Amino acid sequence: MSEPTVFERIVAGEIPSSKVFENDRLLGIRDIKPQAPVHLLVFPKSADYANVTELAAGDPALLAEIVSTAQQLADEHCGGQYRLVFNTGAAAGQTVFHVHAHVLGGGLTEGSL
Ligand code: AMP
Repeated sequence: MSEPTVFERIVAGEIPSSKVFENDRLLGIRDIKPQAPVHLLVFPKSADYANVTELAAGDPALLAEIVSTAQQLADEHCGGQYRLVFNTGAAAGQTVFHVHAHVLGGGLTEGSL
């Protein structure tokens, strides 16, 4: 069996996190190394999906729930407007292979990715 990812360990309570959202299926936390004034992560509690492509194929309703949670968090933290990023693959910057959405907002510059 592969090692649990950092997000699995956060879900299990083995690593502390700054939680901003929790329900039966999802967790929302502050990113430990923020890349924007507001930088939150939303991910399933289940470790079944490594990336957004797998999640979309396996449980599209859960992906839709991640998107609606991102909107709710953006409403609460940065006026309702946000950038949603799913890095997919190491060459695209993915470092944690447990699907997660980056919710970025607050003073993003126009045109930057
Ligand atoms: P990615 O590079 O798309 O896989 O994103 C992984 C994100 O997880 C990065 O932005 C990291 O800063 C963040 N991260 C890693 N460890 C932790 C942690 N213990 N608590 C919160 N965020 C973390």
